[in-house]
Amino acid sequence: MLNLVLFGPPGAGKGTQAEFLVKAYNLTHLSTGDLLRTEIAAGSKLGLEAQRFMEKGELVPDEVVIGMIKGKLESNTGSKGFIFDGFPRTVDQAKALDSLLNENGTPISGMLSLEVEKQELVNRLLSRGKISGRADDQDPSVIENRIKTYNEKTSPLIDYYKKQGKHFGINGMGSIEDIAGRLRKVVAEL
Ligand code: ADP
Repeated sequence: MLNLVLFGPPGAGKGTQAEFLVKAYNLTHLSTGDLLRTEIAAGSKLGLEAQRFMEKGELVPDEVVIGMIKGKLESNTGSKGFIFDGFPRTVDQAKALDSLLNENGTPISGMLSLEVEKQELVNRLLSRGKISGRADDQDPSVIENRIKTYNEKTSPLIDYYKKQGKHFGINGMGSIEDIAGRLRKVVAEL
């Protein structure tokens, strides 16, 4: 089983690259951002609660996202593997994921960490906002807060996975195809 964490700051290209990896390796794509937006669109209680955090560029509480991932793991037991995209985002989420996967004897194979310069992140998010209409991609102060939140709460996960010997840094600058090629090279060795 291949279980990948696709990691990086907002705008690093996780969603775009996840699509390639899903096709190449027949994996199940679990994006907490997408799952949360589905809940918001459905107007569920969970969605309404999450929206308050997302529109400010803050993290949704750990127990909410961990519960969603747990449910998805339980409903996809026949999967060949998973791509976790935008999850984990805190050390507590990473610990919870490790214990859920270890229960099944299917640990994380590797963490693929996309590295992108800050100005490029802001440019990508603003241009995505124009196309997608996502409110959190259109407000520069929300974008700033998401990057700050990443630096404070999410980037410590690099060390968390380094300690497990599972961190792979990947240059996330350049064309989509070039970055996909770099990712494939690393995954082929896992
Ligand atoms: P991006 O990576 O561009 O920020 P996402 O779709 O992954 O986009 O996330 C959008 C928002 O959803 C985040 O800013 C955050 O509020 C919330 N979110 C997504 N995943 C998580 C998570 N694992 N933990 C907490 N909040 C999350």
